[in-house]
Amino acid sequence: MKKMVDKAGKTLGLDAGTIEVMKSPKRELHVHFPVKMDDGTTKVFNGYRVQHNDARGPFKGGIRYHPQVDIDEVRALSSWMTWKTATVDIPLGGAKGGIICDPKKMSVGEIERMTRRYASEISIIIGPEKDIPAPDVNTGGKEMAWIMDTFSTLKGYNCPGVITGKPRELGGSLGRPEATSRGLVFSVREAAKRTGMNLKGATVAIQGYGNVGAFAHKLIERDFGSKVIAVSDSQGGIVNEKGLKYDDVWAHKVKTGSVKNFPGSKPISNEDILELKVDVLLPCALENVITKDNAGRIKAKISGEGANGPTTFEADAIMWKNGVLVLPDILANAGGVTVSYFEWVQNNYNYYWTEEEVNQRLDHKITVAFKDVWDMHEKYKCNMRDAAYLLAVKRVADAAKLRGL
Ligand code: NAD
Repeated sequence: MKKMVDKAGKTLGLDAGTIEVMKSPKRELHVHFPVKMDDGTTKVFNGYRVQHNDARGPFKGGIRYHPQVDIDEVRALSSWMTWKTATVDIPLGGAKGGIICDPKKMSVGEIERMTRRYASEISIIIGPEKDIPAPDVNTGGKEMAWIMDTFSTLKGYNCPGVITGKPRELGGSLGRPEATSRGLVFSVREAAKRTGMNLKGATVAIQGYGNVGAFAHKLIERDFGSKVIAVSDSQGGIVNEKGLKYDDVWAHKVKTGSVKNFPGSKPISNEDILELKVDVLLPCALENVITKDNAGRIKAKISGEGANGPTTFEADAIMWKNGVLVLPDILANAGGVTVSYFEWVQNNYNYYWTEEEVNQRLDHKITVAFKDVWDMHEKYKCNMRDAAYLLAVKRVADAAKLRGL
């Protein structure tokens, strides 16, 4: 992360002090808190909230529950949020939080008590005008509802704007479940326009069939008539050159728990799916799946990053040289944080939009952001990731400069 900021800062001619400020988190809170476990013992959990940068608006970023959460990872992820919110030009900064825990080995009651106690500990630095958390790995609407309730109880009044990703009944936004995938297909649409690709009938491969990957299948097939020929999940992949229909594959996944063994398809590994000869590749599962070892074999014309960090630093350079247009995560999967921003706006207004309004506003945001990144890509003759960082770092640096020290 620091390498990317250095690179962008130097290209923009920023002074060393400004670059240093943008590489450092503004504030870090480490919390150690007790939780009563089901067996009657008390366990102390460790958690973090890192606030990276708020030059452009209140901090924003998810909360992760995982045994491997560590402070350096939370720092890097908080910085990532700063560049993501700046790329799509929403008036928010970047933050991230996490608790070192293994929720898969905890009961719902233990997770609730841990969540409420963590919320109470970090309540001193979060709030609708200060820092607005959201879901991340192993957290979702349920945890967001508990955090909102704990924070509101401490304040003495209802504070839905303290957190996003809430259930609809508590002020969650319509359109949020599909927002990341919708933003992703809008980015692919913009890329196709500029590269002369006709998305109708274009072939698509999708790695990862969870929230992002499965909805991307639905939207690219339904809205653009593209032909998804391969998809995969953690258990393996399937391919059918004639096309895989979303409704059928999704029904199979719901029924069997995996896309594997879908009738009429052939199996394909999670490595091989990335190297298929398709027009559009959508890595929507894990980070670091396209590396210097396989980047040279990627044959897609466009690779849209639904996942965070699927392409390594070295792989990026190889794909750029080979003419693969990579749509970087901080642009391509920013639909989620954009609709989270809309959720916060609706909470603060206490006035709620229709799903159509949410989707239209998202389309506008992503289309403008894509154009801004594309303009940087043409101006600096660099790949789209470098262009997005140039744009984001410039926006944050400009705001910081106007504010002064
Ligand atoms: P998810 O848990 O709903 O789905 C993940 C999918 O990846 C599952 O289908 C799983 O089976 C599959 N998977 C796991 N290991 C795999 C492997 N080795 N090979 C192939 N597939 C594998 O998660 P999600 O919300 O869809 O998130 C996917 C990615 O998108 C993550 O990188 C996440 O950080 C990123 N992302 C998500 C959102 C969002 O709004 N959900 C927003 C921005 C970025």
